[in-house]
Amino acid sequence: MVRGPLSGPGPVTLFRLQERCVPMADVTTELLKAHFRQLRLPTMGREFETLARDAAATNQTFTQFLLRLTELELAARAANAVITRIRDAGFPVEKDFDTFDFTALPGLSKPKVLELGRCEWIEQKSNCCLIGSHGTGKTHVAVALGLAACRAGLRVRFFTAAELVSRLEKEQKQYTLDRFLGQLDRAQLLICDELGYVTMSRGGVELLFRVFADRYERGSILVTSNLPFSEWGQIFQGERMTAALLDRLTHHAQIFEMNGESYRFRESMKSKKGRKAE
Ligand code: ADP
Ligand code: MG
Repeated sequence: MVRGPLSGPGPVTLFRLQERCVPMADVTTELLKAHFRQLRLPTMGREFETLARDAAATNQTFTQFLLRLTELELAARAANAVITRIRDAGFPVEKDFDTFDFTALPGLSKPKVLELGRCEWIEQKSNCCLIGSHGTGKTHVAVALGLAACRAGLRVRFFTAAELVSRLEKEQKQYTLDRFLGQLDRAQLLICDELGYVTMSRGGVELLFRVFADRYERGSILVTSNLPFSEWGQIFQGERMTAALLDRLTHHAQIFEMNGESYRFRESMKSKKGRKAE
C-alpha cells in the first residue's frame, strides 16, 4: 500500500504498555509529547496532532508540516517574550496610543509621537522629554512608548523619579548599587516619570545624575516633568550639575511640550455637565 507522507496510521498494531493494550499510534503520540516536553517545545507538543491531521488532509509534505509546527513555536515564544518584557518594565498602568485622544492636545504632533513608537530613536540611543502641566497625558504617552519598545524587542525599565532615587539610595546602602546600575544598563530605554514633583536629597540627586550621565549616547532615557528646563535647577540643586545634565540629556533628544488643561479635569467637567443636562 502506498500512502501519502502524513496520511493516517497503517493497520493498528497493539502492544502491552503497563499491562494495558495500547495502540502503537497512541504510544508514538505519547512518546512524542514527552520528547517535546523534554526539549521544552510546549507549543509544538500541544499543536502537532492537529497540524499533522491537517497536513495529511491537505497533502502537505513532511517539510511543510515541520515548518508550520516550528513557526507556531517561534510565534508563541515571541509573544511570551513581549509579555515578559512588559512585566519586567514595571509600568504603573498599561496605557496605549489607541486610547490616547490627540485632539485634546493640539500642540502635540501626532505623527511625530507615533513616529517615536517605531523606536528608531531608541536604536540610535537618543532621548525623549515630555514637559508640561499635570494631567496632560505625559505618563500615558511615556507608557505607550515603553510598550511599543517592549513589542519591538527592547528592554525597558519604568520608574517615577522618586522611586528611582529611593531605589538607588537603598541599593547604595546595601552595597548592591553596582549590580543595580548594571541592570539599568541592560535596559535600552529607561523611563523616568515625574521628575520635579518631589524634592530629593543631595545624595539622591547625585545618584540620579550618575545614572543619566552614564547613559549618554549608550542608552535612551525618556523623562517626563512638570517643570520647564529653565527650572530644573530646583531639581538638581545647583546650576553646574543642571547644565551638565541638560547638555547630555538634550544633545540628541526629541522634546515635546504637553501643556494644556488637565484631561482628567476636562473629562470630569464634561461628565458633570452631562449629569446636569439630564
Ligand atoms: P500626566 O502624566 O501628564 O500628569 P496622565 O498621563 O497621568 O497625565 O493623564 C491623566 C489621566 O488622563 C490618565 O488616565 C490618562 O490616561 C488620561 N489622559 C490624559 N490625556 C489624555 C488624552 N489626550 N487622551 C486620553 N486620555 C488621556
Ligand atoms: Mg504623570
